[in-house]
Amino acid sequence: MSHSDHCIFCKIAAGTIPSRKVYEDDELFVFHDLHPWAPVHFLMIPKAHIPSMAQVGPEHEALLGRMMVLAPKLAQELGCNPYPAGGFAS
Ligand SMILES: [Zn+2]
Repeated sequence: MSHSDHCIFCKIAAGTIPSRKVYEDDELFVFHDLHPWAPVHFLMIPKAHIPSMAQVGPEHEALLGRMMVLAPKLAQELGCNPYPAGGFAS
């Protein structure tokens, strides 16, 4: 697992920069946005340093899949209603 000393998200995932944690496991870290744009607004980041989606490769398929499955689960645990009663974006 690679990290960058200059990446704000790596620092948040490592706890160097404090955040309000929603969820954490070996691969992922989820925290509330500091300046939410919605009643529920959290950010989900991989602990492995991936500079941008341009650096995503086949080795990340499982990780990205886990993120897509976890995001709506956490959203609903935090009170978001799925379509058609409500809706949320990821
Ligand atoms: Zn990083």
